[in-house]
Amino acid sequence: MRYISTRGQAPVLPFAEAMMTGLARDGGLYVPETIPQMDAAEIAALDGQSYEEAAFRVMQPFVAESFSENELRQAIRRAYQGFGHAARAPLVQLAPGHHLLELFHGPTLAFKDFAMQLIGQLFQVALAREGRRVTIVGATSGDTGSAAIEAFRGLPNVDVFILYPHGRVSEVQRRQMTTPDDANVHALAINGTFDDAQARLKDLFNDHDFRDGVGLAGVNSINWARVLAQVVYYFTGAVSLGAPHRPVSFTVPTGNFGDIFAGTIAKAMGLPVDRLVIATNQNDILDRAMRTGTYEVGRVEPSVSPSMDIQVSSNFERALFYALAGDGAAVAQLMQELKAGSFTVPQGALQHLREIYDSGRVSEAETLSTIARVRAETGEVVCPHTAVGIKVADDHRKPGVPMITLATAHPAKFPDAVEQAVGIRPPLPPHMARLFDLPERVTRVENDNEALKSLILERRMA
Ligand SMILES: *Cc1c(COP(=O)(O)O)cnc(C)c1O
Repeated sequence: MRYISTRGQAPVLPFAEAMMTGLARDGGLYVPETIPQMDAAEIAALDGQSYEEAAFRVMQPFVAESFSENELRQAIRRAYQGFGHAARAPLVQLAPGHHLLELFHGPTLAFKDFAMQLIGQLFQVALAREGRRVTIVGATSGDTGSAAIEAFRGLPNVDVFILYPHGRVSEVQRRQMTTPDDANVHALAINGTFDDAQARLKDLFNDHDFRDGVGLAGVNSINWARVLAQVVYYFTGAVSLGAPHRPVSFTVPTGNFGDIFAGTIAKAMGLPVDRLVIATNQNDILDRAMRTGTYEVGRVEPSVSPSMDIQVSSNFERALFYALAGDGAAVAQLMQELKAGSFTVPQGALQHLREIYDSGRVSEAETLSTIARVRAETGEVVCPHTAVGIKVADDHRKPGVPMITLATAHPAKFPDAVEQAVGIRPPLPPHMARLFDLPERVTRVENDNEALKSLILERRMA
């Protein structure tokens, strides 16, 4: 399997290279040249298998040329052994026909651990084999950063720099990034928003001298390997509810469009997914784009679901690429227009997107009232991102088609919002109880490329 760029002008790469590169050199995102298919018998055979076995079967065709079967199995085993639940991604029923897929049993309590733990293992195998060293730089709205630090801390051959928007992440998120004391970990608080952090990251990757000089590697949600790792739980969730013998729908609390795009790949591989529902908070660029056809960047409004406080939704470019039938030049043209603030999705492409996705937007008040309602109706305490998903899912459920809402984080990661909604602060799981006692280590940086580059050059362990 080879990987091509959504903008059609970057080198075609094998899986391991696409994983370590992150962003393609033409500014595009890597996608597989073809989508491997799983037929109904292969999907049915996932029933009753461990999460690890399902992960192996779903991912193997995508990585076969870069990792042996044995390397992949080992990486998967190590990636998920620290999870706090034997099912890894258990399903919990909320109401008849509505289920939550709990993706928060990993070490940093958000779904990002599924992908990050795995790519930490895969990076290690690939770098050791080639005797190579890389500098990982990531931008985070909160959860990616902690997941990346947890996955790469202390690993040889890697420095990790994580940029987060100063003052715009929750205290738990911040402490998860600033308390690890490994010498190869660097938490950087940028004066700006998540979109600023993401823009600086893109600038670093587009500076080819710098990129080659430090061996820049990306682990943001634009990284194809992350999308791939997330495809797995769409299969395990759907099969638990009767796929491939009946279709299921998913609602996904969405920011950068990585998680829901993984669902798109699962569907393209043959999983019978009826609808993929995009759930956004008041930062609703995707919901507006789906309704009006105009993708227009607004201002980021901080919300109680901060991991979705995004206006430019990077992985949406992948969905556009498929909706435009793989026309890289057309994608590049739209992305060029976006620099001036907006573009209009061509009619045919919009129709294609609407055949796959529904969308909905949830206000701050609705997020909090949903947390309260779910607690009253089920006893479950959910995080604000998950609440956004549940509200939108309830608006889109259809009789006869089970709905699975992705529970993207543990409520204890966002205690202020939960307390505001239901008056209790959910406790951290025991393995994280010391988080508030550990000293923090962080560097403030300006929203400026040159400042960032010199800091990275100075700090990395050459
Ligand atoms: C990252 C994140 C999201 C958004 O996921 P995307 O892949 O960026 O769309 C939603 N909820 C939580 C808790 C997250 O950490």
